[in-house]
Amino acid sequence: MFECFDSRYDLRGRLITQTALHIGAGGSLAVVGSDNPVVRDVNGLPYIPGSSFKGSLRSLMEAIARALSPGDKQEPWACDPLNDPCVSPTDVEGLSDDKISQLVKRGTHEGGQACTICRLFGSPWLASKVKVADLYLTEGVHWKGRVEVRDGVAIDRDTETVSGGRKYDFEVVPRETAFNLHLRVDNARDEELGLLFLGLREFTNGGAWVGGNTSRGLGLVRIAWDEFETIVGRTGLLAYLQNGAGAQHRGDEITAFISNKIQAFFATLREGGKAHVEETAQPGDD
Ligand SMILES: [Zn+2]
Repeated sequence: MFECFDSRYDLRGRLITQTALHIGAGGSLAVVGSDNPVVRDVNGLPYIPGSSFKGSLRSLMEAIARALSPGDKQEPWACDPLNDPCVSPTDVEGLSDDKISQLVKRGTHEGGQACTICRLFGSPWLASKVKVADLYLTEGVHWKGRVEVRDGVAIDRDTETVSGGRKYDFEVVPRETAFNLHLRVDNARDEELGLLFLGLREFTNGGAWVGGNTSRGLGLVRIAWDEFETIVGRTGLLAYLQNGAGAQHRGDEITAFISNKIQAFFATLREGGKAHVEETAQPGDD
């Protein structure tokens, strides 16, 4: 944490299901049970892997970033990670270890810049600034809810028709189930945080989806924020080391914090959309 420290934001809240949710654990090996169970923790309780939530947030933000992007090929906001990544193996080929570590830390390389989304969420060459802890039930082992079993109809992937009327069942977590959400964001610039909150706002407004079978209406969720803990700059770090905790924000302070970062993002957008360009060296750079 202390190497290259610039800022840390711990965002805590609850992810609450608005409709039933299916996050599959893959085909069940159990002889008795559902064909398609939900993923469960060691206590047998459903949970949401942090990577599932992060994947949903990333694809939502890629869509927002593409919609807002000034269309500059040299400095994309969201690359196409599969077909046209912002940092490709050829960009990295032949770079010295120093240059590679600069790339990993700062997201810049000889040929250009990593896109904003890769800088926030990581890529094969970039550490992610956003981490999401696995989401466990707020009630823990005292959970009174039950996993429900739903019937589905198997669809033939090639013909997209019902495959011989074959039915399968799958488990879902019922609506109004709450999971603890904890996002940690390290060393993000204000405008990057602003873009992140534009994505997260879709969740706080209750209009974003996670998990599988979303075309059936499953997996609509909303976020309710509870507490933000912030450690910003050297002063913040000193206070954190002295008190063992960062600055705590709740209620209206959270609303003001989010709106402030979103304004920073739009200010950068008006200045020509250079949200992803490093004008100054980051602490820890040589
Ligand atoms: Zn990228």
